[in-house]
Amino acid sequence: MDVNAIDRQALAAATDRAREAYAEFEAAGLKLDITRGKPSAEQLDLSEPMLTALQPGDHTASGVDVRNYGPPAPGLTELREIFAPLVGVPVDQLVARDNASLALMHQCVAMSFFHALPGGRDAWGGKPVKFLAPAPGYDRHFAVSVELGVELITVPMTDDGPDMAVVEELVRSDDSVKGMWCVPKYSNPTGATYSDETVRRLGAMETAADDFRIYWDNAYAVHHLTDEPAELADILEACAAAGNPDRAFVFASTSKVTFAGGGVSFFGSSPANVEWYLARDFVRAIGPDKVNQLRHVRFFGDTAGVEAHMRKHAEIIAPKFEAVRNALDHDLGPLGIAEWTDPKGGYFVSLDLVPGTAKRVVELAKAVGVALTPAGATYPYGNDPDDANLRIAPTLPPLAEVERAMKVLTTCVILATEETLG
Ligand code: PMP
Repeated sequence: MDVNAIDRQALAAATDRAREAYAEFEAAGLKLDITRGKPSAEQLDLSEPMLTALQPGDHTASGVDVRNYGPPAPGLTELREIFAPLVGVPVDQLVARDNASLALMHQCVAMSFFHALPGGRDAWGGKPVKFLAPAPGYDRHFAVSVELGVELITVPMTDDGPDMAVVEELVRSDDSVKGMWCVPKYSNPTGATYSDETVRRLGAMETAADDFRIYWDNAYAVHHLTDEPAELADILEACAAAGNPDRAFVFASTSKVTFAGGGVSFFGSSPANVEWYLARDFVRAIGPDKVNQLRHVRFFGDTAGVEAHMRKHAEIIAPKFEAVRNALDHDLGPLGIAEWTDPKGGYFVSLDLVPGTAKRVVELAKAVGVALTPAGATYPYGNDPDDANLRIAPTLPPLAEVERAMKVLTTCVILATEETLG
């Protein structure tokens, strides 16, 4: 965005209108929230039949008594068969676990401090450990890192994924760079899907650390907003083809497919990494919640069942994303004071403002009852050096509330921009 090209007269005229609108919002006593990427009640209702999908006596076809402890160690085979093609991991390299893939990521980072990874000589404990953090990115990845003592190095995001020239230089030159966070499809928050070339380079790049791991958080693998799903290249294949078969840990979950509070999660990787993971995990827990796993199997039936279910999600949330786009196009487009993404999937829109205005926008919106994700949340340590990026999460509120909240947001953007430039 070229700040110098902003038409100041047009901005001044828009500011007059925005002041009037803001006074009306103040009087209206609003209470709106577009902070977190949660599914709406209507979306959760789609999975209600899952609650009654099991009948007494229902065991798997192979005779697993899901009520008891015990095999299969990687989780129910039937569930892994349904999701393997969707997350791009061979069934026998895919592990199914309980709700919250974030817990698996936390566990993998934590365990790496105590147990050497395949290919690595030592565990990470007692030495500096750094992860690359493409930003804007997912705040909870950053929180896990901070919690476990991992230093974050910010890498710029592009439309094709992280800036690979920067990534390649950092991993090649520093053996304390042990990992990297990636949301490769419909990225949180920009919506970008990594290009084939980015995936190839990630698999092939030379790393100083012999136990470098890509945390491939494919949280939005099946969350399309259009009829033309983005294609993501196979990271396990890209790593194996380049002679780095153990480089990637793949994560996914049904948190935004079935129930955010009662879904199932997945970990996929090379046979050596899966063995490493299962050995650690068996100490943590004797086994996952197989009852919930079977509930998911019965509810979906097969892979096509998941895809059909996700189309229903898209029908509910696509209009909300359209409302976001319309508001930004209409209110901010002609002024040239912001840029935003137009995601084809996932849960977020990323909004870039005139530097130095993002925090002020959040403050102005809060004062009239509209909660926005804190400015800076999309950057490591909550620190957006330009104070320019905001994340919009439109899925949770009803459409009318999204429209209202967007009107407030665009009004606050205009006011904050005029304050800063004026
Ligand atoms: N990864 C990303 C990129 C996410 O956006 C989210 C949810 N906001 C998660 C992981 C969390 O997933 P889970 O509920 O499986 O822990």
